[in-house]
Amino acid sequence: MSREEHVDVVVVGGGPAGSTVATLVARRGHSVALLEKERFPRHRIGESLLPATVHGVCRLLEVSDEVARAGFVVKRGGTFRWGAAKDPWNFLFAVSPRLAGPTSFAYQVDRMRFDEILLRNAARHGVDVREECPVGAVLRDGDGRVAGVRCTDRDGVTRTVRARYVVDASGSTGRLWTAVGAPRHYSDFFKNIAVFGYFHGGGRLPGPDRGNILCAAFDEGWCWYIPLSDELTSVGAVVHRTRAAEVSADRGRALRDLVGRCDIVADLLSPATRVEEGAHGQVRVRKDYSYATGRFHADGVLLVGDAACFVDPVFSTGVHLATYGALLAARSINSALSGEVPEPVAMAEFEGRYRREYGVFYEFLTAFYDMQQHEGTYFWQARRASGIGDTDLEAFATLVGGVASGDPGLDAARTRLVGAGRDLAAGVAATGPMQTASGERMATLFRTPVVRDVMAEAARLQARDAPASPLLPGGLVPSPDELGWVAG
Ligand code: FAD
Repeated sequence: MSREEHVDVVVVGGGPAGSTVATLVARRGHSVALLEKERFPRHRIGESLLPATVHGVCRLLEVSDEVARAGFVVKRGGTFRWGAAKDPWNFLFAVSPRLAGPTSFAYQVDRMRFDEILLRNAARHGVDVREECPVGAVLRDGDGRVAGVRCTDRDGVTRTVRARYVVDASGSTGRLWTAVGAPRHYSDFFKNIAVFGYFHGGGRLPGPDRGNILCAAFDEGWCWYIPLSDELTSVGAVVHRTRAAEVSADRGRALRDLVGRCDIVADLLSPATRVEEGAHGQVRVRKDYSYATGRFHADGVLLVGDAACFVDPVFSTGVHLATYGALLAARSINSALSGEVPEPVAMAEFEGRYRREYGVFYEFLTAFYDMQQHEGTYFWQARRASGIGDTDLEAFATLVGGVASGDPGLDAARTRLVGAGRDLAAGVAATGPMQTASGERMATLFRTPVVRDVMAEAARLQARDAPASPLLPGGLVPSPDELGWVAG
């Protein structure tokens, strides 16, 4: 192996974002090297997926069958005990007309397995995957354009990989994102810290909700409860970061104490023991995870996944944002490499769509947290102000299923369902009693301006039964193979 190599695209990081962009660029026949600093499998938090990833992105990655065979827990929706309401309420992905039918579920995944499946799939598609190969710096050409990276291979040899595009998919802890020359903006609203671990033998929600993620608020924050198998459960507590010193001082104790204050999760865990060995044996802490980088691209470089942005774990949007951003990046790189679209136009499409998706979730999640504080009167007034229709529930499931953008690449059900009759009543009935309070919450959420715009657009797309139209004014649409852009 030469110490200086040339490829079309070098991808830094082999998480869902990196594997996705690498595979989708390789599918167009371009040469791709993916450099990953760890050896897989490696642990990651972020186990609850959305249908957009499972049925949309995995379909484009040609890995759906393998993911289906892995035996991950089927997630039909979410169960929330949120705000002042004493009883939990559910949502079901099937309520969304874009997801109803065979694609109305996602998976709860052990990320060690899921990420490895995506990484090996990238290699099968021709990506040159190199583990234990940390990237230390980007290289620039004489004009300042990013033109490659410097890495250290598993034998300790420093190598140079030159490329037309560098994709930083190195997650939240790297520094390569600084190559875009814009600061990272940390959220003023989401200033939380998460402490989490794994338990054997925890209880399960009843019946069809068994595979749901459970998010339950308590006086100081909220807990997640994610069934990863019949035996294993991922459990975490999210509190304000003013508790950081205390949480970090004794993680195990902090997790035990916080979970103990969240009655519904404490009850489910009463027969369980915490896993204390292996990759699931540690209690881990994450903080400073809510941010967006000021730009998602610059000349020769694109950021995807946590390298670009992340909002908050409550609706499991991290892997969705990572893989959707990667799909958008792949389309822009493919179109620029083939010369079908001028590079600035292709990159503007990537940045515009990605930032828009991030913005929708940011606004939506802000409203969701806000509701926790304003409960009672706020919802009662919202209910008085307007009737709550089926559309709010459908829109909610569409958004939290990750398919609000209307992007055909994410929406496996789109062609099958557009124009088809919708049986919302059946969907709601299947999920068990949907409390009135949940309808009130949904109505309030969908009054936030950005979310309303996106929902209106999604509805227009649906009603037209038309091929994808530009999402951005004067913008591009996905090519017929969904791996590039064409004029709208
Ligand atoms: P990663 O999965 O972090 O992958 C980045 C890869 O880059 C790693 O393998 C790393 O080893 C590699 N790397 C780093 N630096 C270098 C380097 N210099 N050279 C080479 N390789 C490098 N999301 C969900 O969808 N569902 C959830 O339930 C959920 N829960 C969450 C809970 C918490 C508390 C937090 C903080 C996040 C959660 N997320 C969740 C978000 C999710 O963890 C991330 O959004 C997702 O993992 C991002 O994927 P990625 O590919 O961008 O990064």
